[in-house]
Amino acid sequence: MGYDWQQAVTAHRDELLADLKAMLRIKSVRNERQATPDAPLGPGPQQALDHFLALGTRDGFKTKNVDGMAGHIEFGTGNETLGILGHVDVMPAGDGWSHAPFDPIIKDGKIYARGAMDDKGPSMAAYYGLKVVKESGLPVTKRVRFILGTDEESSWRGMKYYFAHMPAPDFGFSPDAEFPLINGEKGNVSLKLKFGGTNGGTVMLHQFTAGLRENMVPGNAKATVSGACLDEIEQAFSRFIKTAPVSGKATRTLDRLTLAVTGKAAHGMEPREGINAGTYLATFLKNYDFGGDAAHFITFIVNYLHEASRLEKFGAAFSDPVMGDLTMNAGLLNFTAGQTGSITLNFRYPQGIEPATIRTAIDRVTSQWDAVISVGEAMAPHYVALDDPLVTTLLGVYHRQTGTDAPAEVVGGGTYGRLMKRGVAFGALFPDCPNMMHQVDEYMPVEDIMKAAAIYAESIYELIK
Ligand SMILES: [Zn+2]
Repeated sequence: MGYDWQQAVTAHRDELLADLKAMLRIKSVRNERQATPDAPLGPGPQQALDHFLALGTRDGFKTKNVDGMAGHIEFGTGNETLGILGHVDVMPAGDGWSHAPFDPIIKDGKIYARGAMDDKGPSMAAYYGLKVVKESGLPVTKRVRFILGTDEESSWRGMKYYFAHMPAPDFGFSPDAEFPLINGEKGNVSLKLKFGGTNGGTVMLHQFTAGLRENMVPGNAKATVSGACLDEIEQAFSRFIKTAPVSGKATRTLDRLTLAVTGKAAHGMEPREGINAGTYLATFLKNYDFGGDAAHFITFIVNYLHEASRLEKFGAAFSDPVMGDLTMNAGLLNFTAGQTGSITLNFRYPQGIEPATIRTAIDRVTSQWDAVISVGEAMAPHYVALDDPLVTTLLGVYHRQTGTDAPAEVVGGGTYGRLMKRGVAFGALFPDCPNMMHQVDEYMPVEDIMKAAAIYAESIYELIK
């Protein structure tokens, strides 16, 4: 008979939920405009990092804050270090929540709040896993560092800073994705296209906005137009929203018409999970006589981005037999008359294709409109062999505790797992639970958090015993 990890975790249920709720109340959205030397990513992420590290201190762990960018909670000693990589920042909440996104509630066995599933719930489960390993008093031969990043949802500044200033763990996992286990992640790169801001048709586009982050399918979009036939446009819009898979609202002020569309936000790594409000709004506007850059902006969205996440309209679809499809998310679509139009596309690419190839495909189309392309920093595809002891140990614990036998998988990625050469993502979204990450009314079932904590506890012990 082994140690009863499930029971060890269950004994801490109320305490875990209280700690989690306190974390969820911190509005830890990155905001570099409010950055200070102590809070390089803004006050929210800083407060959340400090709070999590304080839990570690309270529970008798050694902790370290690495210049407000990241931090760790440490346990055990040994030559080898297991890294557990979570994050305390959250996506912006977005519109349409049924209740306050930063005031967690438990309803029907689910805890609702921004960050419940991504990543405060899973991080707290992993933390309690570590805590019960410590409390077990069982001997261990390796060190654990539970590392917290503050900028996972944007550019990983926090975790990159940590890895630049602290020794890298020898192996590890990130509780920031799904069970059973992700041993392969696609590469990730964004391209930004800049258009001019001219108009020229009988209808003028004043403003077009869609999207909050490049790695998120825009759930909301808005356009303000003026010029000929506004009545006709308004009527056509009410017909459009009846037939398209979006909802919407038109608002008239003097000589301007504002059209707002709501689709479905989703994580940008699989755009097919969402409904892009921005590209749908553009398909409606395309029927009207816009000119200049405004017309190019709208035409480009409709002809190349709308419902085309596999780059099929660029003639650039690509798939790898092990790692899957190259995907594209049209995450940010913005136009301001007289200034500029910009579109940010986020790509997830498997092994076998390079960012330069993607850029060339986009260039071929946009060069006709003098659009300027800039390419962000790329993260290469990442893969850990299925027979690596890290993979076999974690999968073994998961299978034992859940009584299932689901295999490891490759995803559109971008988890912290890739920061370690032998790094994987492990939990905490269970296969039978909807993926609520980055979505309106984000939640995580409380039982799943408890189940995850027990899986993490046994996993940590098995990896460091
Ligand atoms: Zn996350």
